[in-house]
Amino acid sequence: MIQIEKAERLKQLPPYLFAELDRKKEEVQARGVDVIDLGVGDPDQPTPSHIIDKLAEAAREPRHHKYPSYSGLNSFREAVSRWYKHRAGVTLDPLKEVVSLIGSKEGIAHIPLAFINPGDVMLVPSPAYPVYKISTLFAGGIPYEMPLLKENGFLPDLTTIPADVLAKARMMFLNYPNNPTAAPATEAFFKEVVAFANQHNIMICHDFAYSEMAFDGYKPPSFLETPGAMEVGIEFHSLSKTYNMTGWRIGFAAGNAEIIGGLGQIKSNIDSGIFEAIQIAGIEAMEDDAAWLHEMQTHYTERRDVLMAGLAKLGIKAEKPKATFYIWCEVPDGYTSTSFVAHLLEKAGIMTTPGNGFGDPGEGYFRMALTVSKERLQEAVNRIADVGF
Ligand SMILES: *Cc1c(COP(=O)(O)O)cnc(C)c1O
Repeated sequence: MIQIEKAERLKQLPPYLFAELDRKKEEVQARGVDVIDLGVGDPDQPTPSHIIDKLAEAAREPRHHKYPSYSGLNSFREAVSRWYKHRAGVTLDPLKEVVSLIGSKEGIAHIPLAFINPGDVMLVPSPAYPVYKISTLFAGGIPYEMPLLKENGFLPDLTTIPADVLAKARMMFLNYPNNPTAAPATEAFFKEVVAFANQHNIMICHDFAYSEMAFDGYKPPSFLETPGAMEVGIEFHSLSKTYNMTGWRIGFAAGNAEIIGGLGQIKSNIDSGIFEAIQIAGIEAMEDDAAWLHEMQTHYTERRDVLMAGLAKLGIKAEKPKATFYIWCEVPDGYTSTSFVAHLLEKAGIMTTPGNGFGDPGEGYFRMALTVSKERLQEAVNRIADVGF
């Protein structure tokens, strides 16, 4: 017998707030309830078939069976730079300013290892995708949470960060269009971020996972198209949400060559890149994607409109999102995030995500994901109307 004890880096992790909710969901399902799951941010539709065909074709070629390069096929990184040119007017050196990632989560989890020393501060938004904070903790860094508040359009107020924090801050994570609030960034905000980065010597990591999931003609700006952004930061990108490829594990980071180089150095010592056939399929996904993007955007717009109409009738307050497949809803009076989400699950068989699970400033909100059909969304609205609150 040996004594198995976890390392401090695991012991320091905050309790997993969704554990109790997962247990409740199983309990409700065991009662025979057909739970409508609006909790998970994972597209319900399959990957477009031309992408799958490309994978199958490339997988049969023995030259793709070898170790890939950790930084990515040149052809994949060239496709990324063509994408940036055409989508954002940004010119990138594919060999120095682009690195492929095993999903953007992988890059987000690894970047603090390249730039954060123990005791350094990482500026992270809150509420947020949990990996920003946890990857910082794993590197021995100190996360400083910037609250995203409704009155600021869910953008952080950079002027409120204390001077002693700024003195120790090395890097900042941002994410727009935002998960979980669905808020967009403005070009003016990105300009402020570049000035802030230069003033305080802070590297910027912008997570652009929802770049193409936008509606009503809205085109989310890339951080890299902001003047001066290439000197201070990088952008994380993912094929997951745009092309229904969450299970494929492919993404990339682009931007400042030194920051990309640092991330690449960590990666070269940890992983060996992405299966080349998946990269070939990724090129296929990004090339000539206008028709697909239109289809995907139309699809989520219809779902959004069904749910927004239903929420309005129910008297649940939520801003109509311009982007992402989330609706960030205000919890009705008399409830907390936790108690309202539990009420919806137990009484109506609807799984949603409590806002406080993404960080304390998310209290008072819950997130609904548009990852079920219009009919199921309408059914969810009907069930809430039946049980009341
Ligand atoms: C889904 C998501 C990711 C992860 O994407 P992968 O490329 O699949 O790892 C990253 N950031 C945010 C904000 C997300 O919602």
